[in-house]
This record gives sequence, C-alpha cells and structure tokens, in this order.
Amino acid sequence: MESPPPSPRKIIHIDMDAFYASVEQRDDPTLRGKAIAVGGGGPRGVVATASYEARVFGVRSAMPGARARRLCPDLIFVTPRFDAYRAVSAQVREIFSRFTDIIQPLSLDEAYLDVTENKAGITSATRVAEEIRRLIREETGLTASAGVSYNKLIAKLASDQNKPDGLCVVRPQEGEAFIAKMPVRRIHGVGPVTARRMQALGIETGADLRARDLLFLQTHFGSSALFYYRAARGEDDRPVHERQERKSVSVEDTFFDDLTEEARLVEEIARIAANLWVRIEKSGGYGRTVVLKIKFADFRIITRSRSFPAPVRSADLLAQSGCALLRAQLPLRMGARLLGLGVHNLEGDGEEGDQLALAL
Ligand SMILES: [Mg+2]
Repeated sequence: MESPPPSPRKIIHIDMDAFYASVEQRDDPTLRGKAIAVGGGGPRGVVATASYEARVFGVRSAMPGARARRLCPDLIFVTPRFDAYRAVSAQVREIFSRFTDIIQPLSLDEAYLDVTENKAGITSATRVAEEIRRLIREETGLTASAGVSYNKLIAKLASDQNKPDGLCVVRPQEGEAFIAKMPVRRIHGVGPVTARRMQALGIETGADLRARDLLFLQTHFGSSALFYYRAARGEDDRPVHERQERKSVSVEDTFFDDLTEEARLVEEIARIAANLWVRIEKSGGYGRTVVLKIKFADFRIITRSRSFPAPVRSADLLAQSGCALLRAQLPLRMGARLLGLGVHNLEGDGEEGDQLALAL
C-alpha cells in the first residue's frame, strides 16, 4: 500500500463565511437574519454571494439573479460594495501576516497559508488556525472557516467541511480516507466539465478515482492525469505561492454540444461577461483590452480583441464589447465548443496595483 510521503508542511486554508453577504449584514443591521444576495437581480445579473439564510432556498454563487428570485421570492438583492470587501480583505491579510509571510490569496476571501515555521513559534497548526479565526472575529466581526492539513489539496477541502465558523483538521495518515469519501467535483482542480466526464466514467468519489490506474486516467484526462492520480491518494506537493501578479482575468466555458445558433451564442457570451465582471470586481483587475476566445469543434482556437483608451469599468461596456467581438465572427464556420472572455492590460501601477497587492 502506498501512503502519502511524510511531509513537514503545515498548511492552513482560510475561507471567510459567505463573505460579501456577511459584510453587508454586519454593516446594515436590517439585513441580519434575512435571505440576501449580493449581486445583480436584473435579467443579466449574477449572484456573487448569498447569505446562509438564502442558501437554505438553494440560492448559490454564480446563479442568475432571476433564477435566485424564483427559488426565494423574498430574496433581497444588495449592490456589491467592493471597496468595503477589499478593506476587510486587507485587514484579514494583516492578521495572517502576524503568523506567516507565505500567503497565497485565491480571492478576496480565501487564502492558503504555510505555517510550518510561523512567526508566533506555535508548533500546532491547529492552534495557529484557531488563533487566526479568533482574531478575525474580534477585529472584523466576521467569521471564517479553516482547514488544517499537510497539503493545499486537503486543506482546501477541509475548510469547507464544518462551515460556517468551523475548523477541520486532517492529519497525514487520514488524508487518503478523507479524499475517498469526497465527491470528485469538490476537488479544487476538477472543473465542472471534468467532473461530468468523470461521472460518465463511473467516477463519483475519491475512492472511485483511487480505483483507476494511471494509464486509464492518462487515456481520458491527458496531462492532468498525474494530478488526479496523486490527489486520489491524498498527495499534493504544490507549495504555497506568495502573492502572484495577475496579467489578465478571464472566464471561459466548454459546452456539451457545440453551439452554432446566434441567439444561444450571444446569450452565453452575455452570461460569461456577467461572471467575468464579478471576477474583475473581486480582484480589482480592471483592464483596457477585452479578449474573446472561441474554440471550434475541430479544437482550433481564435482570439479577437478590442482595446480601449482607459480600463473597462462597467459591466455593460464589458458585455457590449464581448457581444460585438462575437457578432463580428458570425456566422461561425463551424460549431463552438468553448467560449471565453477576458480582460488584459490590467492597471499595473499606482493605486490599483496597491489594491491588488492588498487583496486577500
Ligand atoms: Mg468564502
């Protein structure tokens, strides 16, 4: 039997609970205890974060606003205040830095921390995580959940185990069993398309994945096979990277059936633009160049772009540019299996750069 190699790393994944919604409920007492969704309730709006009261109704992140309203008729839509979220994010980030400088933010509300050797000299990573959660609660009035483990893969899954306001510790000897019962779609690195392909192959859980050999996985998943093979065994040796500079922000989607119909293409690009806007606001990465990507049924890829004199700062302009770039390609010479939209030439220097650097 293989077992995870002994690893000296102590990794914590911290994830703020229903972050945007919790900040709104903290700052506006009339929203407390209510089903709220931060994001747009309009025809093209997307839910960025739902409060736990709204999640009971099935409202989720990235869900179209109209669908969310059908699920929960009393849902209150709140316009996002990204400046407020970035400010809290910076506060939380400062709390992390009291313990370690090896911090990898995934977004405003999530980060990996390597606390193997921490500034506080605390040998127990669990105690570090508890201390961080206590300080976050004390200094921001918000709750965070933490996953503590020996690698990033498991720490991230663990932080989700006991949400909200929870802690979960997975020790090296428990890693493989922990992954075994996990639905594969929850593994960070298994996207929705891969998850469906795995499902079609009868792979639903970590245990199902563990039962397939490397050759089988390579046949079906190519270069990602080794990552999945090792993940199924609770292994992941990716280090925690200190803050990365982002050069672009993008969103893309692969479709089950190749798209040809104009109405459907335009609808998808509008949806992708709305999701991209959420991501742009979250990262503070406003860019001057909008890039459309199309992958055709024969796997050939084209990109088309348009640059503006100043960064794109409105969801409407982003959606309009995306649609215009797409319309210029119609009718498509064959079906599209993937559409993507991104912004490049992000503001690099000055204020925005500082905000990016402060982002969690
Ligand atoms: Mg979160």
